[in-house]
Amino acid sequence: MSGPVTSIDAPVDDEQGPAATAPTVQRFPSRMADVGGMAVRRALPRHDRRTVGAWCFVDHFGPRDDGLMQIGPHPHTGLQTVTWLLAGEALHRDSLGSEQLIRPGQLNLMTSGAGIVHAEESPTGRRGEVHGAQLWVALPEETRHGSGGFEHHEDLPVVGAGGLAATVLVGEYAGVRSPARTDTALVGLAVSGTGAGTLSLEPSHEHALIVLDGTYAVGDEVVAPGELAYLGLGREELTLEASAGAHALVLGGEPFPDRLVMWWNFVARTKAEIAEAWDDWEGGTDRFGPVASELDRIPAPLLSDRG
Ligand code: MN
Repeated sequence: MSGPVTSIDAPVDDEQGPAATAPTVQRFPSRMADVGGMAVRRALPRHDRRTVGAWCFVDHFGPRDDGLMQIGPHPHTGLQTVTWLLAGEALHRDSLGSEQLIRPGQLNLMTSGAGIVHAEESPTGRRGEVHGAQLWVALPEETRHGSGGFEHHEDLPVVGAGGLAATVLVGEYAGVRSPARTDTALVGLAVSGTGAGTLSLEPSHEHALIVLDGTYAVGDEVVAPGELAYLGLGREELTLEASAGAHALVLGGEPFPDRLVMWWNFVARTKAEIAEAWDDWEGGTDRFGPVASELDRIPAPLLSDRG
């Protein structure tokens, strides 16, 4: 999925947003956004909650049985895309030459470094089941100017917690590490199962819960799809009570130290860097290579504020 970030999501002149807090449950409604003609729930960024650790963008799409993903070649900078499906399939192609079908339970992780291009589409070209999430992780200074990469993982560790099971998408949980690349201290868990379970969390991380299906109770708060529950910093445990067949993501990480400037598909630190990425994409420079896709390349929106 492409996730154009607009000034509605994260005005570039705003401050970074509130700092991490002690354990809390703050509920933020998602905003409905349009990605390639499909309505998605955008949980991050919000003007009042930009990041959770290095997690800087969360789109939840579906569930629907008439979805069609047709997102033509578009660029990214300064981030990783994390794709996780509950239903349906998607075909990923990128400018590194990767071509990978992803199915439910598998992880696609693309690292942009300084610049990468990808396209994502329904492999049959027809409408069908679509349900999943695409998330972005902001890269730290050390790797955001580096080379790109792509990983596909079919065997992810799963850790039981009472009636729940946590698939470790990225980072480490309960002493078990995902094979996926991480450039900052962070964790991403896909939680499923029914009933109660207690997750042990890293207290130096801030965390958030995003429900994809069903409901999860955190204390007295019942969290449903279409909102993000910010859980704060310093939490050692998270007890969840899931409705039958529920699914959620638990995201965490060390509070991100840098002020991000996010515009369209670019994650940067300054408006001048955004303008440079715009020029490189629209000018067709070598920074953004070709993708073997039949779909049309997506033009960047007009950039009026060049810093
Ligand atoms: Mn994309």
